[in-house]
Amino acid sequence: MKAFGFERADTPAAAAAAAARTPGAKFIAGGTNLLDLMKLEIETPTHLIDVNGLALDTITPTDDGGLRIGALVRNTDLAADERVRRDYAVLSRALLAGASGQLRNQATTAGNLLQRTRCPYFYDTAQACNKRLPGSGCGALDGYSRQLAVIGGSAQCIATHPSDMVVAMRVLDAVIETVAPDGETRRIALDDFYLAPGTTPQRETVLRPGELITAVVLPPPLGGRHVYRKVRDRASYAFALVSVAAVVQRDGSGRVAIGGVAHKPWRSDAADAEIPRGAKAVAARLFDGATPTDDNRFKLTLAERTIAAALVDTEEARS
Ligand SMILES: Cc1cc2nc3c(=O)[nH]c(=O)nc-3n(C[C@H](O)[C@H](O)[C@H](O)COP(=O)(O)OP(=O)(O)OC[C@H]3O[C@@H](n4cnc5c(N)ncnc54)[C@H](O)[C@@H]3O)c2cc1C
Ligand code: SF4
Repeated sequence: MKAFGFERADTPAAAAAAAARTPGAKFIAGGTNLLDLMKLEIETPTHLIDVNGLALDTITPTDDGGLRIGALVRNTDLAADERVRRDYAVLSRALLAGASGQLRNQATTAGNLLQRTRCPYFYDTAQACNKRLPGSGCGALDGYSRQLAVIGGSAQCIATHPSDMVVAMRVLDAVIETVAPDGETRRIALDDFYLAPGTTPQRETVLRPGELITAVVLPPPLGGRHVYRKVRDRASYAFALVSVAAVVQRDGSGRVAIGGVAHKPWRSDAADAEIPRGAKAVAARLFDGATPTDDNRFKLTLAERTIAAALVDTEEARS
């Protein structure tokens, strides 16, 4: 691991200002992803700004009946929150499908949003990877791509976003709140937060240098039946090959977001409109224009079947 500086920040503004002051600085929250990447020298920050002392660890109601989740709320606490379990059950279930109890105790909401891809070539510094080393090539495109994206990728990168939490947040239309080093705050819809890899896969989000995530806001509860289904190679401690977050109302209308297939949770209004016609119609809309590799073409079938299973779960609960 390379040497780095370290400081603790007391306020969000001070944290953002410290990041802007020090080129190569990074925030550290739970450290469950960043420290692993630093040990492998995939991430080499010059300076760490510990944000754990910021008062961003509460879940509070918003004026319109939604919830504001502080950036430092731990995954365990978010999954267990009574309001989340009752009104946003898909989020609670997605969180509990991720990682392990110990990791969820440490992992934060913002850190989960910003965890890096699990592409095996990204983790292997002997391999070409445009995301890790821009311009070096993409080992996965001509190599082993079973876990990687079937849609939204580019000729430079087909990495997926590994989070379960964000799939549920996408189906709930979550909004991310931030503060910049100059004190400016902004709200970013989750769907606009992650950048397509295009020709610059090293740029993953619309965050600007030094910009700190302060919270994630959930709109008022949608009602309906909430389901999260995750398909993976082993029953625990594994990232999704495909996951489905679904919220379906009594009248059969609903929303579906898919994880494990793209650089961000994949959802479209056109696919949501097909829910009453069933999984095949939903999947056809969602994966229109998909460019799977030979290794991961199976994800298209797997996704359709997982959507079908999730929709059956919601029907059973509504009958
Ligand atoms: C063995 C293992 C298995 C796992 N399995 C799963 C799984 O099945 N599903 C799943 O979804 N996840 C899984 N994870 C990932 C885990 O959920 C993430 O590591 C965790 O959510 C990251 O949160 P953190 O607070 O520890 O982030 P950190 O490691 O502290 O930070 C991650 C990134 O976020 C940035 N950051 C942190 N806070 C802020 C902020 N407020 N503003 C701006 N930037 C910030 C950091 O600079 C860093 O770049 C697994 C992890 C491990 C190690
Ligand atoms: S898919 Fe992306 S992360 Fe994986 S090797 Fe290619 S450039 Fe790197």
